[in-house]
Amino acid sequence: MRILFLGAPGAGKGTQCKRLSAKLKLPHLSSGDLLREAVKDGTPAGVAAKSFMDKGVLVPDNILIDMFRERLSSSSCANGFILDGFPRNIAQAKALDVLLEDLKAQLSCVINLEVDDRLLSDRITGRRTCGNKTCAAVYHLKFAPSKVDGICDECGSALTQRSDDKEELVMARLKTYREQTEPLIEYYDSKKVLHTALGEGEPDQIFEDILKTLNTNCLIKQ
Ligand SMILES: [Zn+2]
Repeated sequence: MRILFLGAPGAGKGTQCKRLSAKLKLPHLSSGDLLREAVKDGTPAGVAAKSFMDKGVLVPDNILIDMFRERLSSSSCANGFILDGFPRNIAQAKALDVLLEDLKAQLSCVINLEVDDRLLSDRITGRRTCGNKTCAAVYHLKFAPSKVDGICDECGSALTQRSDDKEELVMARLKTYREQTEPLIEYYDSKKVLHTALGEGEPDQIFEDILKTLNTNCLIKQ
């Protein structure tokens, strides 16, 4: 199965992708993780990406595509994969189409994880991370608070808020998502592979809904 997840920042894509990856035994491919791996392994795309990252600029689309080409054509993806956070815009989606065509593969299912904007904002701005890098436990002021305010349960270090999780930046991130990524919903809908799952409520319930969506719509298609 080749699954692609769409969803705004804070929609809980990462959490659900990890669970699905464990359940279906398919690799979970987020562009951030893939980038770190490619750089660490020194693959041709990784080496090219590093030269941009060292300058502190965004890695261009063609290098990202090369990186996904390296990974998707490897044996680790022979039974499928779960894409998370890629493609981010129509240009990347079209490049992914070409790549999949070259691999004689197609997407089985695109899941759009839908969450109301107000809740997205609450989820992101309430997020706190343990400042101790080797611990990096994640909390939420409202949904998963630490036992002592501002202190990590695991290691006792102070909790911090990621700078791009602050309110005004969250609004900017949501706006970018609406402008660049939301058109993908229509793009995949026109290809008849899009399915929507509600990303609100308990993570267990959301996961059940996603499994049900996949079972109903996607398992028969390879
Ligand atoms: Zn900690």
